[in-house]
Amino acid sequence: MTMDLDRARTQIISAGKFLDSKGLAPATSGNYSVRLSGDCIAITVSGSHKGRLTDADVITIDKTGAALEDKKPSAETALHTQLYGLFPQAQAILHVHSVPATVVTRGNTQKAIVLEGYEMLKAFPGINTHETSLEIPIFENSQDMKDIREQVERRITKDTPAYIIRDHGFYVWGRDMAEAERIAEALEYLLACEMESMKIRAGARA
Ligand SMILES: [Zn+2]
Repeated sequence: MTMDLDRARTQIISAGKFLDSKGLAPATSGNYSVRLSGDCIAITVSGSHKGRLTDADVITIDKTGAALEDKKPSAETALHTQLYGLFPQAQAILHVHSVPATVVTRGNTQKAIVLEGYEMLKAFPGINTHETSLEIPIFENSQDMKDIREQVERRITKDTPAYIIRDHGFYVWGRDMAEAERIAEALEYLLACEMESMKIRAGARA
């Protein structure tokens, strides 16, 4: 199915409202995109509140990340274009700032988080049992997108469903926006479970 800019805008605006309702769009954080027909990408502009997006907050870029109109795309555009290159099946990408993603990666040097035994894992593509585990890589935060891109390039595999940036948030992608939203909601839930478990363990040690 071809994806035109109008449809992509509607999906991105609606994703912003949904993620904001889940507490995943604080301040002006996050950025969202949809792959358009003809190798272009619709992406949120820099600086808008994602719960209150309008058509003017979504612009078109080419596959190298260059804006095709006179507006500034998201600061993290280079991470979106990289993911579309690595995952040809990905049609939508969501990046959010998340409290549990920040807390569980804070003050440690863990390179990945392993989510194991959760029923919620079935929200991820290709998983149909809780008796499995999913490894989500954690990358170091940087204001230099080249630095994050290199970490992604080194460690991501075709089976990676998402990644976390330490002290920052996470990236998910899907074969359509509905799938990307589902994975974002599931990952947020799972990381919240991990965060609560950390609190209980810390309380038990005190
Ligand atoms: Zn961010």
